[in-house]
Amino acid sequence: MWSTMQDFPLTVTSIMRYGTSAYGTGEVATFTGDGLRRTSYAQLGKRAARLAGALRRLGVDGDQRVATFMWNNTEHLEAYLAVPSMGAVLHTLNIRLFADQLVYIATHAEDRIVIADGSLVPLLATVLPRMETVRHVIVVGEADVTPLAPAGKELHSYEELLAEAPDSFDWPEDLDERSAAAMCYTSGTTGHPKGVVYSHRSAFLHSMSVCTGNAFGLTGSDKVLPVVPMFHANAWGLPYAALLAGSSLLMPDRFLQGEALVRLIEAERPTISGAVPTIWGEVLRYAQEHGSDLTSLRMVPCGGSAVPESLMRGFDEVGVRIVHAWGMTETSPLASIAHPPVGASEEQAWYYRMTQGRRMAGVEARVVGDGDTELPSDGESVGEIEVRGPWVTGSYYKDEDPSRFHDGWLRTGDVGTLSPDGFLVLTDRAKDVIKSGGEWISSVDLENQLMAHPDVIEAAVVGVPDDRWQERPLASVVLRSGSTVTADELSGFIAGRVAKWQIPERWTFISEVPKTSVGKFSKTTLRRMYADGEFE
Ligand code: ADP
Repeated sequence: MWSTMQDFPLTVTSIMRYGTSAYGTGEVATFTGDGLRRTSYAQLGKRAARLAGALRRLGVDGDQRVATFMWNNTEHLEAYLAVPSMGAVLHTLNIRLFADQLVYIATHAEDRIVIADGSLVPLLATVLPRMETVRHVIVVGEADVTPLAPAGKELHSYEELLAEAPDSFDWPEDLDERSAAAMCYTSGTTGHPKGVVYSHRSAFLHSMSVCTGNAFGLTGSDKVLPVVPMFHANAWGLPYAALLAGSSLLMPDRFLQGEALVRLIEAERPTISGAVPTIWGEVLRYAQEHGSDLTSLRMVPCGGSAVPESLMRGFDEVGVRIVHAWGMTETSPLASIAHPPVGASEEQAWYYRMTQGRRMAGVEARVVGDGDTELPSDGESVGEIEVRGPWVTGSYYKDEDPSRFHDGWLRTGDVGTLSPDGFLVLTDRAKDVIKSGGEWISSVDLENQLMAHPDVIEAAVVGVPDDRWQERPLASVVLRSGSTVTADELSGFIAGRVAKWQIPERWTFISEVPKTSVGKFSKTTLRRMYADGEFE
């Protein structure tokens, strides 16, 4: 028997329609470095319509890919709404990727148009001539576009195009909720980056989920500061979720340093803000040094890599609660979030807060061991975590390699345990685990212990080849300026916190841990740097 319910599609169009009408007085504000550009959600809807009209005039029809090469700002949000709602596919390009990867991605996705930030014109100019499928570039803001000319593409000014287009658009009513809305490539640790294609349905359901009280609990009285880039896994779903909840958005644009963010937070008083741990580390150091007030933030979702306990405790001390979350580009990205269970004691709550969190409603997870056998979710059995659900990818775009999928589940490449009540504890990424004499050492655990030392700003641990043990940990440490702490002292500090045989005997002191395009410790770079065995 079928239900009597209407078969009403879940689409980005309905997110846009709802947010820009029901919450038309909501606001998106973009930081300009010394002030803010403010737009109401009602105006935003009209500008999205103009953008869709402009794109149609440039020939965008059907499911053509429209790429963005942008910071987090109002215009990027306009593209987030207009492109999927007109039936085309939004492809957010990660501006921090290497040139060859950017060219590969744009060509693989067959991007036809690139909407680019004026401030990124020089960067785009280095790759545009090789982006063969691109016909048009639309430049946002004031910029000297002469560096783009040699690429031979048609160049347009965003504002001029919008001014010429009407402020209403005949949005298609027949979009299939399973059709592509947006795409994002994983930053790719080995081989080529892989494309994940989000559907209208997955974007809608993920956004609803982000709004729930068990996740970020967004409401109309929130002001959301997405520091996590809109080119990385949909800025954790925050932009669409804000429109559904009527929360205002505060966009940091290109001002992502600790000082700029602290000034923005003090002036505009956002209530929730998401970013990776490295960014929050910088924010905390600046705030502690200057006695800044971050307490408008009721919640700081943090993930992308394991959150060090020292960071979480540091934020607690300045009156701000970090909430640990886990996910990946392939999972839209939010898959689990660490709210301690009701009734947990203070000590238990800390345990739960340090886990990767309880899986979200709709996301199923299991632990798989050697030979692809499922292990019990007993909080003890360690294996690879596999997930499935309505916002989890079931394949990669134009990629036949089935090795990342297993009977309809996504192999996450993350190693850990699951408890009976759905809490996930990651011990490491499969490729970062250090295999020493047949035993496994968690690089993340060592990093956490090292970063608990008051003089350690950052610590990254990788496995390096060892004749006797196969691999041994190498710790790369960034010290607070002026600190004279030695490797021996740090070994002493972590002794008692980790097993003796896990303590690194190889150390290097560096000025900064190299980061990936999305701000995580780049262990590939560290391994490459020290492949020849040159360290203390
Ligand atoms: P990339 O592979 O470029 O890092 P993603 O941003 O999709 O791309 O990264 C997803 C991965 O990030 C996860 O598979 C996991 O290894 C790591 N990760 C995300 N959140 C956490 C977290 N809270 N704790 C530990 N690792 C995390």
